[in-house]
Formats: sequence, structure tokens, C-alpha cells
Amino acid sequence: MGPARAEKLSASGFRTVADFLLALPFRYEDRRRYATVVGLERGKPATLLVRFHGARAVRMRRGLLRVEALADDGTGAVRVVWHNRYPSFVKALEGSRAALYGEPAASPRGETRIENPETEFIAAGEEADPVHSGRIVGVYHRAADVSSRPWRTLARRALDALGPDFAAAAASPAEVLAALESAHFPETPEAADAGRALLAREELLVLAAGIEAKRERLRARRGLALPASEALRERARRAVPFPLTGAQKRAVGEIAKDLKSGRAMARLLQGDVGSGKTVVAGLALMLAAGNRVQGALMAPTEILAEQHAESLASWLTAAGVRLALLTGRVRGAARTRLLAELAAGRIDVLVGTHALAEAPVAFRRLGLVVVDEQHRFGVAHRARLFRKGDAPHVLVMTATPIPRSLAWAIYGELDVSVLDEKPPGRGEIQTRVRPEEGRPRVYAFAGERVAEGERVYVVVPAIEEGQREVAATRETAARIGAALQGVRIGVLHGRMPPAERTAVLRDFAAGRIPVLVSTTVVEVGVDVPEATLMIVENAEVFGLAQLHQLRGRVGRSERKSWCALIAGRDAAPEALERLSVLERTSDGFLIAEKDLEARGPGDLLGSRQSGLPAMRVADPVRDLAALGEARRRVVALREKGEEVRSDLFGYPAPKSETRGPR
Ligand code: ADP
Ligand code: MG
Repeated sequence: MGPARAEKLSASGFRTVADFLLALPFRYEDRRRYATVVGLERGKPATLLVRFHGARAVRMRRGLLRVEALADDGTGAVRVVWHNRYPSFVKALEGSRAALYGEPAASPRGETRIENPETEFIAAGEEADPVHSGRIVGVYHRAADVSSRPWRTLARRALDALGPDFAAAAASPAEVLAALESAHFPETPEAADAGRALLAREELLVLAAGIEAKRERLRARRGLALPASEALRERARRAVPFPLTGAQKRAVGEIAKDLKSGRAMARLLQGDVGSGKTVVAGLALMLAAGNRVQGALMAPTEILAEQHAESLASWLTAAGVRLALLTGRVRGAARTRLLAELAAGRIDVLVGTHALAEAPVAFRRLGLVVVDEQHRFGVAHRARLFRKGDAPHVLVMTATPIPRSLAWAIYGELDVSVLDEKPPGRGEIQTRVRPEEGRPRVYAFAGERVAEGERVYVVVPAIEEGQREVAATRETAARIGAALQGVRIGVLHGRMPPAERTAVLRDFAAGRIPVLVSTTVVEVGVDVPEATLMIVENAEVFGLAQLHQLRGRVGRSERKSWCALIAGRDAAPEALERLSVLERTSDGFLIAEKDLEARGPGDLLGSRQSGLPAMRVADPVRDLAALGEARRRVVALREKGEEVRSDLFGYPAPKSETRGPR
């Protein structure tokens, strides 16, 4: 390619032959059959084998020409028009043969013509062996301002340039070469699929090898050995006022084993909303403190950090653990004092927001880092906190029940503990999908709950953040306020300053405001045991996993709890059907699987920090199920001392809007 295009593509991350080979078509067009000019029909794209004559440049604009010619295939001639061509194109046209692909349409004068067809010249004396027509051709995403056709040319050149002597991960180089050929230039639709599937398997194997290597690196990190003496275990048992669930005991046991192993822990604690992750974290922090090392717990919001600090204090303070809270609200002299105490080692456990990861925060001896709702943090934030210790033990917690296949790709290097059991006495949250007309009854029911001294959440979707979000919460608040005379209604949205948000949540938790209308900012972690009813307006716009998460804000005590999903007027019947899954099940994993099928991984994980590795060929929904198998293969290969190497998939993928991970 020319230097200008090369530079553009290189700037978009397309640098190696592999980058071009792995930019596969996103669909194919069947241009195998040649049509005849007499048989052309307007509106039906066709491939023609023609000779041009009568070429002329019609109009000039900034050095570019509008070119016309007659294309003749022996059965007749059709007028063809190209825009924005250089003079050299006109010269090349006259008398030459070409394969054309385009759509005949009516010209303003009512004549049939083809505008801007893909044009492939056939050299004199050669057979028609076109790249762009007379075959099944790939259609490529536009990237770096390069349209589909030049991508196809580039793919052809890259394939021709590639010898069979590159490293392939699982298949033989010849098989991989054939698969690439089929994926770009398939003989049949089936061949395209098969080629793609083989490449996806290669990619998964390389992905799995990367995960395994990372896992081994993590395993090799030496960490502080933090044993749990009998005295310490006894203190821990007395600290918590309720008996742990079986799952919690198991998780604490697994963590305790990691902590005393002498290697640094890297563990994910996965548990559905309300499964009781906080107390598990608290006991881990207590084990650390009992060994005279410091611990940190980072939460995504201020209110959540405050709640964690409160819960942990109620369990750990009596056991002699010195606990402090650091958020953006701790300022001035108080902050200076807190940081000094932390550096001097007079604080055992520091709970806080991302403020924990900021520069002035220095520990004396940080041995354990816990990150709650970890997907809410960027990788950089987490890493910055980890670096404040010397290979600290790390426990990350998430309530997003991630289907196994995805979990492998995202958290594959971590050990996993699962809380698959709820604390006793938690009943099912009775869930109902209701049409708009049902709203008055739902609101009346909310009034009853308030009269019983309970609390009600009303969540409205913030379709766009900003003004709309503010208006949506206000409108809904006014509506429910009119229905429940004399009840205080609170409003919470992302546009409010954090301090104001925290104040509203505190009033809600304390019962001063019994009804809270909010956007999804309440989604993460807020624990108000008196809340028994969750109402979601326009529920159809949410993913099932997110609704499940929202529903988890109620049912946090032994009181009976409800969830009403109100569908908007315009909700399609299929949307209502989709929501009804939540009426039938409270199994977060099952719900996540359904979401993954229907909406893809971005929705489930939050597209910003999904943590999903970029995949060039493999599909995170369709192909990831095979990742487990790929990992077993990698482990088996490594045991035989063999490395997985691939010249195709061994490099980071180009960053691009259109070609990124789907
Ligand atoms: P999540 O896993 O969603 O973070 P939390 O840690 O907030 O859940 O726990 C939810 C509620 O359940 C809290 O009020 C917590 O104190 C309580 N809880 C946790 N474990 C138990 C248990 N074993 N028995 C009774 N209540 C518990
Ligand atoms: Mg939590």
C-alpha cells in the first residue's frame, strides 16, 4: 500500500501481517454467478464480466473526475458511472476487461445504469480470477478510513505474502493458512464458517495460555505468611453476632489457607447480592490485623464505604482491631492526622473509596487488600492500591454472577470462592411484572409498606445521563407523591453532589424518608434491611442481571419482600416475556446466562471496565464455552514442557471503534 494509507492504518494499530489477516469480513456476499447485461434488473446487485468502451471524464472537482463508460458483455451494454476518480483511471478503462459488481438503478433520465460498482480489471490474456467478484466475497468493516474493497485487496496481499513457516498454536501452519484463506476468500459459505471456527480455536488456545501464564506468575509471588492461631480463631468466632452460612465458612477457610501459605493470595469472592460477602472480608481483615499487618477495603461509593466501615467496626472493634474510614469527605486536619496514624501503623484496617489509592496514602505494612464490587474500578486504580504494599494478599469481591465461561476469561488467573447460599430466613423476593395500568395498585401497595414502617425504592432508568435523569426522577417522585399523600419522598440521581447523595441515603436508611426515587445509583451494595419493596419503572430497558442486582436491594432481612417491574407503554410483548424470567427464578447465574445470550457481555459486565480480553475472531458469547477445554489443553501441553506459540494471535489487537471486542 502507499505510505499515506500505511501511516493511517499503522496509527490505528494495524501494523503486522497478522493484523490484516485477522481483520476478518463481518459478512459475505455471494457474487459467484455472472449475470448478463440483458438480464439486469434494477435494484438487484449483479456481477458482470465486461469490456469497457466510450470512457470519458464528465466533471472535474478538486482534481477528481466523474467517469462514465459503457460496459459490454456481448449481450448488451450498460452505462457505468464512477465518482471521484483520477485521470489515470480513465486511461485504464478504455478497451479493458473487468469484473463488475454493483446495483443497476434508474438514472435521472430514466435510463438503467450502475453507479460506483466494484471494478476489477482483468489483465489482457488472463483468465478472470477476480478478488472482488465472480466469487463469494467478504465485506469488511470500514476502519482507519479504509473501505471494504481495499481491505479485501489488503487481505489478498497479506495472504499471498504469508509463507507456511509461521508458528501456529494448535493446528498445523498449513491448516491455519487454509483457514485464513477460507475466512477471507471462501469457496462456499460452509468453508467460511469452518475457517473462522478453526481460527477461533487457535485464538482461545492462545488466550488460555496467557491466562495460565498469568496464573503461574501470580502463584509464584511470595507473600506474608499470616497464620490464624487458635486464639485468633476464637476471637473471630466471637466477633460476629450470627452464625456463618456454610458457604461463608468455606470461603473464610479458603482465604485463611491462602493467607498462611507464604504465597500471595489472589482470590475472587463471588456471591449474589445479599449472600454476605462483607463479613467474609471482615474476618479476612481480622486475620491480617491479628498478624500485625494492615488491611485495606476499597468500595466504589462513599455511602458503601461508610456502611462497610460501620459493619466492620461493629464486628472488629470489640476484638481490638483499630479501624478508620477514608473518603473524599475526610479533609484538612482530620485527614492529615489519619494519614499520619496509618503511616505509623496505628490503624489496622482502612476502609474507603478510591481515595485509598491516591498518592499521599501510605501504609506502614499493607498485607491485605480487599476490593468490593471490583468491576466498578479501573484496572489502574486497583493496581495503584496493590502497589502500596509489598505483594499484598488480594481479595476481590463481586456480586455480578458471571457465567462460568466468561469468568474464566476475566478472572481466570484468580482462585474463586463462591457464596452460593443466603443467610437463613431470607425468603424469595416475590416478583411481578406489571403493565402501566397496574401502576396505581403498585403505588397503593407501596403506601401499605410505608404504613408498616418499611421502606420502598423506586428506580427509574436514566436513558441519558444529565438533565433527562434529573427530570425522570422528579416526574416519578411527583407522581408517587401524589399517590401517597403525606409521605416524604426522596430523590437520588447521579447529578447530585456526592455529599447530598450520601445525606439522602442516610435519611432513607434511618427512615426519615420512607420512599426513595432514584436512578440506578442505588444498584451497588446499599444495605437497608427495612427496605421491602423495589419498584422499577420502565423495567424493559434494563438487562435482567441489572434488575436482579436492583432487586437485591430488598430482601435483606427476615421480612417478606417484593419487587414490581412496571413495563412502559411501548414495551414489546417479547420484552415482557423476557422480564418474566425474574418472576420465576432468583438464581443469579441462570439470570446472567440469559442476559449473556440476549444482550452480550457488555451489558452484563458494564462495557467500560468489562475486563474481557480483546478477541479478534472468537465470539465471547458463542465461543467462550470452549475456553475451559482450551485451558485443559494448555495445562496438558505445559506439563509436557511444550509452549503454546502463535504468530497470528500472539500480539495485542489493534484498538479500533469498529473492530474492538464485540
Ligand atoms: P453482599 O454479599 O451483597 O455484600 P452483605 O455483606 O451486605 O451482602 O450482607 C447482607 C446482609 O446480611 C447484611 O446485613 C449482613 O450483616 C447480613 N448477613 C451476612 N451474613 C449473615 C449470616 N450468616 N446470618 C445472618 N445475617 C447475615
Ligand atoms: Mg456488598
